[in-house]
Amino acid sequence: LEAKEEFRHKTLATDVMRPRRGDPLLSVLTESGMTVEEVERLITDTTYSGFPVVISQQSPRLVGFVLRRDLVISLGEKNARRNQEGVVSMSPILFTECDPPMSPSAPPAVKLHSILDLSPFTVTVHTPMEIVVDIFRKLGLRQCLVIQNGRLLGIITKKDILKHMAQMANRDPDSILFN
Ligand code: ADP
Repeated sequence: LEAKEEFRHKTLATDVMRPRRGDPLLSVLTESGMTVEEVERLITDTTYSGFPVVISQQSPRLVGFVLRRDLVISLGEKNARRNQEGVVSMSPILFTECDPPMSPSAPPAVKLHSILDLSPFTVTVHTPMEIVVDIFRKLGLRQCLVIQNGRLLGIITKKDILKHMAQMANRDPDSILFN
């Protein structure tokens, strides 16, 4: 991000975050309750670089963030652990640290706690973009998650910010301060 570009007006995180109205919903994973098949489908049906992990679809409280790259490696056919442990399409995927009770006849679970980033950067919908941009620069972030009242609402990537800046520059040159 260019250090000289600043948001002067009060653009808020909610103005830049995705999904926008009319977009498909945020693609999330749940910390338990999903199968290998479901996660593989999410990987093939989307191109996102990462997925927030939430407690459940009904309770979109953020647990962490997982990179697509790490999921692909962990679930890949070449993954030795996966092959050895008899994992099948219906095997549950667990991002939790402890295993929930499961029946002995259930297929073995794939434990992915180790690839979960447990403290992804978060802001609220009301956080001014000026601050968000500053944090992206200082921490070298690629994305951050947007929360309202403890509920995960959206995501902002570095490209989303750059696109927003370009749009603002086109629409209203005075809205971006070059110093
Ligand atoms: P980039 O913005 O660098 O292209 P991504 O491919 O991850 O990165 O994201 C593409 C677009 O989709 C961005 O606008 C981003 O805000 C949005 N996005 C990223 N991850 C998700 C997700 N899990 N669910 C829904 N939208 C997402």
